[in-house]
Amino acid sequence: MVDILVLVDHDGGTPKKISNQILTAARAVGGGEVHAALFGDKASEAAGKVGAYGATKAFVWEDEAAGAYATETQTAALVAALEASGAQAVLYSSDPFVTDVVARAAVRVGAGVVTDAVDLELDGDTLVATKPIFGGDMVSKCHVKGGRPQFIGVKANAFTAEESGGGAPEVAALDVTLDEKAKRAKVTDVVEASSGGRPEMTEAAIIVAGGRGLGDAEGFELVERLADALGAAVGASRAATDAGWYPHQHQIGQTGKTVSPQLYIGAGISGAIQHRAGMQTSQTIVVINKDAEAPIFSIADFGVVGDLYKILPPLIEEVGKRKL
Ligand SMILES: Cc1cc2nc3c(=O)[nH]c(=O)nc-3n(C[C@H](O)[C@H](O)[C@H](O)COP(=O)(O)OP(=O)(O)OC[C@H]3O[C@@H](n4cnc5c(N)ncnc54)[C@H](O)[C@@H]3O)c2cc1C
Repeated sequence: MVDILVLVDHDGGTPKKISNQILTAARAVGGGEVHAALFGDKASEAAGKVGAYGATKAFVWEDEAAGAYATETQTAALVAALEASGAQAVLYSSDPFVTDVVARAAVRVGAGVVTDAVDLELDGDTLVATKPIFGGDMVSKCHVKGGRPQFIGVKANAFTAEESGGGAPEVAALDVTLDEKAKRAKVTDVVEASSGGRPEMTEAAIIVAGGRGLGDAEGFELVERLADALGAAVGASRAATDAGWYPHQHQIGQTGKTVSPQLYIGAGISGAIQHRAGMQTSQTIVVINKDAEAPIFSIADFGVVGDLYKILPPLIEEVGKRKL
């Protein structure tokens, strides 16, 4: 049995889907207490909502210094949350955004880190993580040897968030002491990446993704039009992001984001193993490719063999008509 502290990511007072997934996983695997750590603006508002997914206690840091994300300050807060919680394991979202903080916190407390878990099991008081390797072709089982707590990063959409029926958790304000070193970096400005009003990929129910088959950056206009007609997020293959046709934060796959929407529509994407590793758990996969032999068809629920430039425009029109 292990008590688990979950580092909860939240947006304007609401925990993100990935954090609810991780809280659900912590509840299922640990057998002990599930605690949550929340930092930044509106952290206490978000803390009130983590009980619904099984956290019994939430540690909150919400003062002025917590507002802007900076590695040193967030590290100090995570270490303080760990000391206050006494948990033997920390679960966090395998997201580039918090990886720097987790790595520093782990070094500070002399613990080990396992990244990119897609499944968890308990062996005595050790959490064993299953993680995909070689683009998802094989899996490896890893655990932290020695130092405690054990830090484990969990991939988005590896678990389904399920409410526990729990009430509001006990909320404790963290006392985070920041030394001069922790205050060296200051966030002076924050520029939000433009999403064109579309949902974030890892939270979206529908994703329309485009690849090299679009031919050029302008091709993404069609992908965006279909996404907007469906209220979807836009994704891209690495070939498309590497070519500069679409921003890298939209890349799906082994070195991009893992997504698991209800509907994935891929146009002009061949379905290389590294791309499939990031989207193959999507509930329904629809693909458009002019090559009937493209590997993406092997995982598709519905496939259209043909030129995307002939297929997407009438599809967008038809979706538009049905929305009226
Ligand atoms: C270590 C490593 C990590 C990687 N990580 C990732 C990753 O995270 N994500 C990722 O996506 N890739 C990743 N890759 C790259 C991956 O191997 C592929 O090169 C990439 O996914 C190919 O992108 P694509 O399908 O858009 O392009 P291509 O493989 O070139 O496929 C383009 C497809 O479009 C079709 N097409 C062309 N014209 C049309 C048309 N008019 N209408 C319809 N179909 C058309 C073609 O038939 C073809 O199947 C990684 C590679 C490595 C080595």
